[in-house]
Amino acid sequence: MREMMAAVRLHAAGDLRLDRIPVPEPGLGEVLVKVWRSGICGTDLHIAKGNFPAPNLPLTLGHEFSGVIAATGEDTDPLAQGDNVVVDINIACGRCYFCRRGQKLFCPHVAQLGVHRAGGLAEYVVVPAGNVYVLPESLSLDDAAYVEPLACAIHGQDRIGIRSGDRVLIIGGGPMGLAHIALAKLGGAATVIVSEPDASRRELAGAMGADVLVNPFETPLEEALAELTEGIGPDVVIEAVGSIPTYEAAVAVVRRGGRVLAYGAAPQTATMSLRPFDIYSKELTIVGSYAGTYDTWPRAIDLLAEGRFTPSIIVDSIRPLAEAVEAIRGLETDKSTVKVHIQMP
Ligand SMILES: [Zn+2]
Ligand SMILES: [Zn+2]
Repeated sequence: MREMMAAVRLHAAGDLRLDRIPVPEPGLGEVLVKVWRSGICGTDLHIAKGNFPAPNLPLTLGHEFSGVIAATGEDTDPLAQGDNVVVDINIACGRCYFCRRGQKLFCPHVAQLGVHRAGGLAEYVVVPAGNVYVLPESLSLDDAAYVEPLACAIHGQDRIGIRSGDRVLIIGGGPMGLAHIALAKLGGAATVIVSEPDASRRELAGAMGADVLVNPFETPLEEALAELTEGIGPDVVIEAVGSIPTYEAAVAVVRRGGRVLAYGAAPQTATMSLRPFDIYSKELTIVGSYAGTYDTWPRAIDLLAEGRFTPSIIVDSIRPLAEAVEAIRGLETDKSTVKVHIQMP
């Protein structure tokens, strides 16, 4: 009989279960990873609620994980059993228009682990060898579970291109907003202003290096910024919430000639009001950022390995796999934790 394992699987929109299923076997060019830690992310809640197309049900969730190679299939050199690893979740065809232009996120066949095919909210996961990064000794498996979200944030920062001396506003002190604070500081921002209504998250934003903390429910953002930037507005605004009012605020408060990063995932069909005249007359640059892949992964690994980024400020709750379903459901209402990591048995 095959060995069994626990896995958090979505059976239908709203129907998330902790199942017992057989441990998968690695095929040609694949390795089996024994998961160590797996992060829970807002995207998991979107998938679980059915807001995100999940075509292959039942689907094992989990796209932020670290682990150890437990077995290798054929043709997986130089990977070896016992290697500590993380896995770029973005698997693409490598042959289409987008793949050949280094934009595999837009590949029509792209499949993300934990989104389109079995991910790492399970004791084991099978992954393609080409997506695996072996960790340096200085990076723990605990911290390595943060590589995926950090790679995404790095991609966002690449897209918006913070310059030395920029004044940066980050809207939202959630798990991704907090990551952007540290990266903006590393990237040379002169001032990082964070707008966040929750007091405990504002405190974490301070711990991540934010220079000015604004409670937008107390002082309207525009008013606060007028004072902080001599009525000019920030050079860069990073929207890291995904709500329509905050997106509208981002465009409204950025300075003339400024740049807005659309980082927060808004509901797929939501629309916002945007005056083309503002884009035109303010010469705005609005850029999107969807996910991190390619070199953002080794760069995230290096930042963590060199101690330039401290995920433990953001990862404020570590729970067992048995509580993963509850932790995902809790994302909707419970704002007392920022980021949950699931520790595998
Ligand atoms: Zn995520
Ligand atoms: Zn492709």
